[in-house]
Amino acid sequence: MSTHKSNPQPVQVAIVTGASRGIGAAIAQRLALEGYAVVVNYAGKTAEAQAIVQAISSSGGQAIAVQADVADPAAVRSLFDSAVQAFGRIDVLVNNAGIMPSAMPHLADTDDATFDRLLAVNVKGTFNTLREAATRLAHGGRIVNFSTSVIGLALPGYAIYAATKSAVETMTNIMAKELRGKGITINAIAPGPTATSLFLDGKTPEMIDRLSKMAPLERLGTPDDIASAVAFLVSPAAGWVNGQTLRANGGLV
Ligand code: NDP
Repeated sequence: MSTHKSNPQPVQVAIVTGASRGIGAAIAQRLALEGYAVVVNYAGKTAEAQAIVQAISSSGGQAIAVQADVADPAAVRSLFDSAVQAFGRIDVLVNNAGIMPSAMPHLADTDDATFDRLLAVNVKGTFNTLREAATRLAHGGRIVNFSTSVIGLALPGYAIYAATKSAVETMTNIMAKELRGKGITINAIAPGPTATSLFLDGKTPEMIDRLSKMAPLERLGTPDDIASAVAFLVSPAAGWVNGQTLRANGGLV
């Protein structure tokens, strides 16, 4: 009998921003099931984030909750520090945190505060985490950013929100090239309408029904639909997919 012991593979570690609810919570739970230790980032809803951590622990996984406003570069640095302190390394960044106002005025009626906050969270927030990830992800790591299928739909009312996500797609595309030599892939997911409070809040049942029927698959996406697409992009099976945006929307556009 051999006494030689093989070194166990280190546990891979994923940071999921905005993982206290909605799509991010589904991604955190899915990646935990796939064996990742997960950092559940959130902005303010501590109880929700703790509940996701508890659900992961109850299923035998490892997770911690870390509050950080992604728009704040110092908070993002300390989010990455917390991940390394807890789990020793970072392999995956899922840049899911994002905001969309429940009222969607035309560009001409959009106030400065709405514009500034959308830019701060969706663009600066993604920039802040990408800048950290560029130097702190392990070789062979994976980054998944969040765009939206509304860029393709060009729906009135979505000009500023869609513009922030166009910036995310452009950062994805260019950063894939800037990461040359690190073995890290970076892609974006662009969901269609997905049943979370970001989409449902402020809409009448008629609006929700109409938007649900727009895709040829005739339903809203679920957070699990999107988590499955993210699980694919971080898996070895997607190793040759880099710098792309994947529209996960039931065929909407
Ligand atoms: P939700 O509003 O359901 O959840 C948003 C999550 O992001 C929460 O966990 C929230 O934390 C967190 N968050 C918000 N602001 C910040 C911040 N400044 N810093 C850190 N975390 C923050 O959104 P969805 O799950 O629907 O959306 C997830 C992503 O998918 C977003 O990027 C969105 O733009 C994109 N998307 C969604 C679509 C949809 O139809 N739902 C369609 C296309 C794209 P807390 O709970 O603490 O507030």
